[in-house]
Amino acid sequence: MVTVTVWNEYRHERTDEAVQAVYPDGIHATIAAALDERFAVRTATLDEPDHGLPPDRLEETDVLLWWGHEAHDEVSDDVVDRVQEQVLEGMGLIVLHSGHYAKIFKRLLGTSCNLQYREDGATERVWVVDPGHPIADGLPESFELPQTEMYGEPFDVPEPDRLVFVSWFEGGEVFRSGCCYLRGSGRIFYFRPGHETYPIYEHEHVQQVLRNAVDWATPREGSPRTFGERD
Ligand code: ZN
Repeated sequence: MVTVTVWNEYRHERTDEAVQAVYPDGIHATIAAALDERFAVRTATLDEPDHGLPPDRLEETDVLLWWGHEAHDEVSDDVVDRVQEQVLEGMGLIVLHSGHYAKIFKRLLGTSCNLQYREDGATERVWVVDPGHPIADGLPESFELPQTEMYGEPFDVPEPDRLVFVSWFEGGEVFRSGCCYLRGSGRIFYFRPGHETYPIYEHEHVQQVLRNAVDWATPREGSPRTFGERD
């Protein structure tokens, strides 16, 4: 069975009533519940020892989902090193929303990963721009999120290997909201929707994207990664 770890910073939900009202058990609990019985799902949070990601836990993880926002700097470099190594060895990584600024995402992509934003609770329409991609399985050609935080271009990331979603916002902005990358043997998917004060992860199509993304990012058997001098 595919082992999934849902990592969440889990700070807003404990300090901010508006966030508590939307995610009383934490964003990680809602995401974990959205994944299905094909996956063995566990959660991990920033304030646990090793941020809930000790070496054995990471080694058992096939796909890691990452949600962070206000405490990116508190993630230890040791854990970032470890996650990077696991991704290069084949672990899938799904980075959500404000995770664009996570140390691990910037490390793996090598750019600032900065963007424009506006928290106005306006509508987002997510368009599937790669309908044959497995992450788009079962989705309509577009779907609407009635209240979101806007993210706008330029999004300072490397050109995605595949771009699955583009978002349009009521203010007129557009954003590359579903980006696939390959790093080493690992698959990385960035998915934009997910601000903490809106019930984005309750949305059926968002949940479908998360399940599809876990399937896509699950490690393949592949071939051994062998480096160095040959006999
Ligand atoms: Zn946000």
